[in-house]
Amino acid sequence: MFELTEEQKMVKSAAREFVVNEVIPVAKEIDKEDRYPEKIVKKLVELGFFGMTLPEKYGGGGMEYKSYIVAVEELSRGMSCLGTIMSVQNTLYALSLLEFGTEEQKEEYLPDLCNGKRFGCFAITEPEAGSDIASIKTKAVRDGDEYILSGQKEFITMADVAKVAIVFARTDQSADKHKGISAFIVDTNSEGFNVEKPIEKLGGHGVHSCPIALKDVRVPKENLLGKENYGFYQALKVLASGRISVAARSVGIAQAALDAAISYSKQRKQFGRYISEFQLIRAKLAEMAIKVDTARLLTYRAAWLKDEGKDYVLEASMAKLHASRIAREVASEAIQIHGGYGYTKEYDVERYYRDAKMGEITEGTNEIQLLIIANELLKRGIA
Ligand SMILES: Cc1cc2nc3c(=O)[nH]c(=O)nc-3n(C[C@H](O)[C@H](O)[C@H](O)COP(=O)(O)OP(=O)(O)OC[C@H]3O[C@@H](n4cnc5c(N)ncnc54)[C@H](O)[C@@H]3O)c2cc1C
Repeated sequence: MFELTEEQKMVKSAAREFVVNEVIPVAKEIDKEDRYPEKIVKKLVELGFFGMTLPEKYGGGGMEYKSYIVAVEELSRGMSCLGTIMSVQNTLYALSLLEFGTEEQKEEYLPDLCNGKRFGCFAITEPEAGSDIASIKTKAVRDGDEYILSGQKEFITMADVAKVAIVFARTDQSADKHKGISAFIVDTNSEGFNVEKPIEKLGGHGVHSCPIALKDVRVPKENLLGKENYGFYQALKVLASGRISVAARSVGIAQAALDAAISYSKQRKQFGRYISEFQLIRAKLAEMAIKVDTARLLTYRAAWLKDEGKDYVLEASMAKLHASRIAREVASEAIQIHGGYGYTKEYDVERYYRDAKMGEITEGTNEIQLLIIANELLKRGIA
């Protein structure tokens, strides 16, 4: 578990080389323009980063989840939006289909994800249902061979580039709120499926999150994903895997901030000495490195448990909470080490700080992670 396998080392060095040559030179510009990095994503498709963990028969790479996690970490080290794009496609979208799709659905959608022809998005959040996803109001009413979906979704990442959406809607109005939800595979070109203007956000630029208005969208009954009224439980399962991915993105951002702080401290002189010679700066660097390493270890452990087929819900939440928290702290310290220049757009550390914050909110806020961790601890009992 502590050593990367040959496969993971290969993925890490391929991702790093790509980041150094193709990402770092344009990262500042993409952040400033908040532009989707289409060319970079195309190259990542060619290199096989989409569908890495999917079975080869669907065009995937058949790799371990941990290899994918290493890729997310390295790509996020260059630009966090790449970690987000990887996560939405390889976990939220791909795993929804892989875990719950019929063979026909997998054959229809997974190859097109791997070859980049059709990306997806995952739409559960609504204006009045964020942490409490079981209270969604979007309705799906059966009408002959179709369902008719209507409602409003909020914050849906990649909705503006996705050709397919996994949409969660209420199929049983009378059931207990967790029990009446189902998931649907929806073509984003369907009549009545309206992706609204992207929400302006603090960081994570390069990938957009948009509201979606669903007005009487007709979906063939064959596009029900998984069992009717089991959507809530399906979402929980996919989100648990997704959290390991959010943790990896956070580790990547934190590592980038630490790299920048080390490098700056060896160049900047004050009082006639490099600031790296001051003990207070050294202590900061040491604390930052411990934080990055502990977050990485928690993240790799969660991925390893998933690969081993063991329960990882508790560990995924721990990794996500800790990594996103330390990413914000490490990025803040990196700004501090850069002094006034760290607070300017000239250096990358202010971007890392803005990007790091996102991890504390998405795929279940860190308050919700505390609830999950406590719940799992009490369920598992004393070891
Ligand atoms: C950049 C970005 C991208 C996103 N992408 C997607 C996406 O692709 N698909 C999607 O479906 N959603 C997406 N989301 C939505 C995201 O999952 C929600 O924002 C998140 O789950 C929190 O919901 P909320 O914003 O409604 O906050 P609320 O649930 O209103 O929470 C507000 C505050 O109250 C706290 N709180 C809530 N309940 C409790 C409780 N029981 N105990 C203690 N504290 C509590 C929260 O932790 C938070 O601090 C995205 C959000 C962002 C910001």
